[in-house]
Amino acid sequence: MTFTLPDLPYDYNALEPHIDEQTMKVHHDKHHQSYVDKLNKAVEGIDLGNKTIQEVLSSINELPQDKQTPIINNGGGHANHSFFWEILSPNSNKQPTGNLAEAINKTFQSFDNFKEEFSNSAITKFGSGWAWLVINKNKELEITTTSNQDSPLSEGNTPILTIDLWEHAYYLKYQNRRPEYIEAFFNVINWEKAEDLFNKAN
Ligand code: MN
Repeated sequence: MTFTLPDLPYDYNALEPHIDEQTMKVHHDKHHQSYVDKLNKAVEGIDLGNKTIQEVLSSINELPQDKQTPIINNGGGHANHSFFWEILSPNSNKQPTGNLAEAINKTFQSFDNFKEEFSNSAITKFGSGWAWLVINKNKELEITTTSNQDSPLSEGNTPILTIDLWEHAYYLKYQNRRPEYIEAFFNVINWEKAEDLFNKAN
């Protein structure tokens, strides 16, 4: 079984000015590719059957112990980035609609409140990692963060939305200004995709 780098579902420059072309090129072609290459090395000699990387991460304890860390790191890197590309769009609605909008209002009182809580989690996350909106094991919406390339799937959470908080995701354009990058991210969220995922998980 060999994992492969998925194409971006839009052009490298499609998210400008919010996320710049150079960042997207390096991020997708170099960083994501490197996770895929190292993942393929890490799974050499292991029979994963037909499992997707998402299924592998959801059942990580079934793997040999000495293989778990490289697969959590690089498999997580592959799964997290594949998800991130899909949850971005040059044609963003800017706000959720339908069932997801309703659930966000119910859980966080309002979209603005959700945005503030999500942004604060992302701003204050120490070091490299990701901020997420997930459906947790109790079937509730929850804002979480993961460190490094850990996947919410390994915690039994279903991802609905995410932002990459590694400096490689924003440093070329925003340098140390992570809050500006997070604000810009809210202009390119694919809320249709997020609602799709929400509906499938319910
Ligand atoms: Mn990244």
